[in-house]
Amino acid sequence: MKVTRRQFLIGGTACTIIPVLNVTAEDESSRNFAMVYDQSKCIGCERCEQACRETNDIPASYSRLEIIRTGPFGEGEDRHYRFDRSSCVHCETAPCISVCPTGAPYRDKDGIVAIHQERCVGCKYCVAACPSKVRHLNPVTKVIDKCDFCRTSKLAKGELPACVEVCPTKALVFGDLNDHNSEIVQLLRHKQTFRDKMYLGTRPKLYKIPHGRGEVI
Ligand code: SF4
Ligand code: SF4
Ligand code: SF4
Repeated sequence: MKVTRRQFLIGGTACTIIPVLNVTAEDESSRNFAMVYDQSKCIGCERCEQACRETNDIPASYSRLEIIRTGPFGEGEDRHYRFDRSSCVHCETAPCISVCPTGAPYRDKDGIVAIHQERCVGCKYCVAACPSKVRHLNPVTKVIDKCDFCRTSKLAKGELPACVEVCPTKALVFGDLNDHNSEIVQLLRHKQTFRDKMYLGTRPKLYKIPHGRGEVI
């Protein structure tokens, strides 16, 4: 009987999941990509979610990013919702990388946490370890999936991530933290931002500008 790599690594009493290697970077690069999400500009239209699904071929009930709506807040004319983005924050010290027994997740040369698909055995250790809870098992590919800043689908062609491209309010800014003249660095210099769960020491790279009011209904 032919045994696939996945079956060998995950199945049967005789098969133990063995750490193969812990890849941290493919080669040197001077770029360090990150994103800013401006809660005060987000109107909750969810075009970013849709564009992400279409661009990265994500099954309908799954998502690499989620816009979370809370509210309503206020009364009468002041009634409004608030929005937040949930997606991979590309931790500089990423738990998904350190727990994976096969070396599937890795940090690429541009600081993006990506995945060697052929190494993933679907054990979901990384799903449990991710503090942002943004990893899912793609039911079609049977491989773990999550936001990779459209690394292969858009960046490789010199284009911006799909969510950034379609956002009608420019609530998303993507760029290189090592380029001091970039829009993202200028924004971080001049705007108040925060990052989720900083106390964990994972050094996330999704910066957020806090909301004022959000969508008015
Ligand atoms: S947010 Fe989760 S999936 Fe993204 S790099 Fe951090 S641990 Fe990995
Ligand atoms: S499910 Fe996660 S931890 Fe398991 S092999 Fe795939 S990437 Fe690694
Ligand atoms: S496309 Fe822009 S405005 Fe619409 S939900 Fe996404 S981030 Fe918010």
